[in-house]
Amino acid sequence: MITIETVLKNLRGARTPEREKLIRSAFEFSEQAHKGQKRKSGEDYIQHALHTALNIAHIGMGSKTISGGLLHDIPEDTNITLKEIEDKFGREIAFLVDGVTKLGKIKLRGTKEELYLENLRKMFLAMAEDIRVVIIKLADRLHNMETLGALPPEKQKRIARETLDVFVPIANRLGIGEIKGRLEDLSFKHLDPENYALVKNLEEKEFGIRKKNLEKTIHELKKELQKSNIEVLDIYGRTKRIYRLFLKLQRHDMDIDKIYDLAGIRIIVPEVADCYETLGIVHKKYRPLVGRIKDYISLPKPNGYQSIHTTVFGPEGKIMEVQIRTQRMHDEAEFGIAAHWAYNEKGTNWKSFFGFSKKEKTLDEDLTWVRQLQEWQGELGKDNEEFIEGLKIDFFKNHIFAFTPHGDVIDLPEDATPIDFAYKVHSEIGDRAVGAKVNGKMVPLDYKIKNAEVIEIITAKERKAPSQDWLRFARTTLAKSHIKKALKKEGVL
Ligand code: MN
Repeated sequence: MITIETVLKNLRGARTPEREKLIRSAFEFSEQAHKGQKRKSGEDYIQHALHTALNIAHIGMGSKTISGGLLHDIPEDTNITLKEIEDKFGREIAFLVDGVTKLGKIKLRGTKEELYLENLRKMFLAMAEDIRVVIIKLADRLHNMETLGALPPEKQKRIARETLDVFVPIANRLGIGEIKGRLEDLSFKHLDPENYALVKNLEEKEFGIRKKNLEKTIHELKKELQKSNIEVLDIYGRTKRIYRLFLKLQRHDMDIDKIYDLAGIRIIVPEVADCYETLGIVHKKYRPLVGRIKDYISLPKPNGYQSIHTTVFGPEGKIMEVQIRTQRMHDEAEFGIAAHWAYNEKGTNWKSFFGFSKKEKTLDEDLTWVRQLQEWQGELGKDNEEFIEGLKIDFFKNHIFAFTPHGDVIDLPEDATPIDFAYKVHSEIGDRAVGAKVNGKMVPLDYKIKNAEVIEIITAKERKAPSQDWLRFARTTLAKSHIKKALKKEGVL
């Protein structure tokens, strides 16, 4: 059980009276609204709101997002309306709560198809409209995963699968390693309890063996770094996350002796130059393994991750990994997009930060908001609360995502009609279309589809020529070219 004091204690950045006042009043409002409600686990419902808020505070988000986290389930689960939230807390916080409520209504139906999953993730991001809504949703999911044991086994598996397929990649894309790692381990635990237990035991045993050695290394390195006048902000032993270790073990015949980064040391220093100097000192003290030095500072990972990794023969010749990074790199690795707001430096590669691959080049070029971010960051400096206000997701602004009755996601341009939808599914379906239903209701064929609507195309049994009229309202080149082709065949055009 936690209290609002726990959340306040974990605020990153200044604990000003204004921030504290807002968070406290959101808490009191939420506690009143959820009064008497219980979670499946038997806990008071407010515990869920508090844990969600704590997860948000932990990655360094501001008081509005934390308040949004405290209030996020009110419109869906209580008699209090969104309007009442808006009257009390203003439009911005109400907007965040509304966004979370809307996202909760999307059915994230499972499938093994990667393309479908990728569309689902995009749709999820596009529907959120504001990145803070996604962060609240991730924090909410994290607590739901932590209390998943209270649900029936079937449901546990479904939710864990959905978490691994949709929420983990989104957390990864936003660079929030902390939430990503915890969600992965919790999903793994419910999807594959046997392997989870196996790997967890293996790791605990190994860490037990290596613990003394790690402590000795830390002690020796501290001394060496001190001699060279390098300020050490933090140095500690770490273990690999269970799910990540499992994936690696699978690639190495489940042989734990082949995993060199199972346990290691992490060193946090002030400047980039200190990282390289520290690397030199580590290598002078312990012989490095050839070919195991990874400089992710010069060459960041696609999601923006930066750090230096090296593997060395530590005390008594024991192999271990050493990671070296600045505080900023560390915060960005753990808290991702949230940490970026806290730093006021130019030259961040926002595009690589979001990990858009080359395949999505056109999309990548379209990321106007990413460019806007850079500009705002320069203008607004450290005032991250204000900075965040303009943080709307509009990089999928010109896209809408609709569902087939089977749950497949169809990606369409804005103002697309059922005719565009039909041709995108299959040219046959386009050619035979005679009507359309949206969320079960009949609509005209020039209806403008909105995000997340379920579209059913009614087709004629016999093949018939498309109407020339369709060319007037079809939006996609694909539909237009099919219509023209069919009309020519019929001798109409
Ligand atoms: Mn919730």
